[in-house]
Order: sequence, then structure tokens, then C-alpha cells
Amino acid sequence: MAYPGTERRPVFAAAPGPDIAANLAAVGEAIARAARAAGRDPATVDLLAVSKMQARDALAAALDAGQRAFGENRVQEAQAKWPEFRTAFADLRLHLIGPLQTNKVKDALRLFDVIETIDREKLARAVAEEGARSGKAIDCFVQVNTGEEPQKAGVWPRAADAFITLCRESLRLNVTGLMCIPPQDEEPAFHFALLREIARRHGLTRLSMGMSHDFEAAILFGATEVRVGTAVFGRRSAAREEKR
Ligand SMILES: *Cc1c(COP(=O)(O)O)cnc(C)c1O
Repeated sequence: MAYPGTERRPVFAAAPGPDIAANLAAVGEAIARAARAAGRDPATVDLLAVSKMQARDALAAALDAGQRAFGENRVQEAQAKWPEFRTAFADLRLHLIGPLQTNKVKDALRLFDVIETIDREKLARAVAEEGARSGKAIDCFVQVNTGEEPQKAGVWPRAADAFITLCRESLRLNVTGLMCIPPQDEEPAFHFALLREIARRHGLTRLSMGMSHDFEAAILFGATEVRVGTAVFGRRSAAREEKR
């Protein structure tokens, strides 16, 4: 018998991880509520679980819970994590949501189903050429820098119309939607409305907008894919975020 306070306990006990299945269910319910409040069919909103910097166990837990659409923002990281699951889950859908360098286009086309970050002519050309070469006409979204933030990727709103037309008509890219990341310190509604308006002018039906803190508002403004990381997987650790 141990004296009080001397019981052995594991020294390196792991902190309990987030309950990913429960989080997915809660986010799914919140998406459905927001869709119904906007008079939309919840089935028209796709949850993209943003799995950047998440370990294999977290991906496996999400897959076990039935999640099939995921967003990653780095080609190399995704290449290290996803091929094994690709084999096991034929209906897996991977979206690239981070900046793409032209020298990674070939790898990106091999791994991803949608590239959401087409934002400059050089990249659009590289994707079109690699698509023609490999016979894979990948779905593309044009990323719009709605806040005109110099440090952020995306074509500026005033250049968006010409760029979308170039991608579709000259380069024959399969552009199916638009994507934006509103400035952190601004009311996102204006940005969502702007993205929707640009999409409307081009007859584009898919809108990738809304993250953990604002996906409900994005759904009100027509989001068809919400990119949710933290609310599904828990907080990414500061140390790992810094390495990015
Ligand atoms: C990380 C990331 C997200 C997810 O952000 P959360 O706040 O964790 O939901 C969404 N979109 C992009 C482009 C990201 O890089």
C-alpha cells in the first residue's frame, strides 16, 4: 500500500487528444444549422478538414469517423502523409489550399484532386501544361486576395476578371471555383460577398471560404467548401506553426 501522495503515475502520460470524431460531428451540425438558416440545403456545403501539421493518427481518426475531404497547404508535407490513405480510401478528396511553386506542380497534380490556389499566370500556365502532358485536367480554383494584402497570395479583385478569363479561355484550365482568405482583423462578410460576386460574373459555382472562426458567416454568403482545421483537430502547436 502506498502512502497518500506517493502513488505511481505515468510520468510522460500524453495529454488527452481532441475527440476528432466528436468535433467532426459538432462542426457538421453547425454547418447544417448555418445552411438551413441561409435557406440552403446542407448537402451543398462540403467540409474540408484542414489537416496541415496534423500527425498520422489524427488523419486516421478523421477517416475512421467518415471524413473524406481534406485540405493541406504544402505539397511535400501532403506527399509524406497521404499516399498510404489514398490506397485505402478510394473516395478520398485532397485539396491544395496553400501557395504552389511551379517546380512542385507535377507532384501536386499527382497527389491532389483540386488546386485552390491558382493566382498568377506563370503558375496557371505550368498547371495547364502539366495537365496536358499527364492527361489529368485537374479542378482549379482561383485564389482572390480580397483584402489586397501585399504579403498574401491571390490575384487582386480588380485583376480577377481578366485572370479568370485567361485561365479558362486561353489556358483551358478547368476553373470551377474561387477561394479567399479574408484579412484576420476585418469583418469577413465583405470579403465573402465580394468573392461571391466575382464568381457570379463568371458563372462559377464553387466558393471556398470560411475557416474555424467564420465558417457560419461564409455559408450565409454562399460557401460551398469551408476549410476547417482547429475546430476539427484542435489547436496546432505554436512551435510547429512557427516552422511554417
Ligand atoms: C490553416 C488554414 C485553414 C484552417 O484554419 P483554422 O482556423 O484552423 O480552421 C483554412 N484555410 C487555409 C488556407 C489555411 O491555411
